[in-house]
Amino acid sequence: MCDGASVLLHVRCGGCAKLYQQTVILPAGQGVPRDGDELMEYPEVRNANFQCPKCEAPYAEIVAFKVRETNRAA
Ligand SMILES: [Zn+2]
Repeated sequence: MCDGASVLLHVRCGGCAKLYQQTVILPAGQGVPRDGDELMEYPEVRNANFQCPKCEAPYAEIVAFKVRETNRAA
């Protein structure tokens, strides 16, 4: 069973080019993205509020991601 997944995004700041990480939670029952194209189909990802920890720019480019499924013991 899938109870949703947390996706760790590796992003590059659009302002100062700093690399940082941000986690997005995907709701249960929507599966998990397998590649970048699928990742961008999730509104939770497209609408994620990025904020660079260095320059606070709200825009960033996703350079990589890692899915961490949250499996809850029944
Ligand atoms: Zn920045």
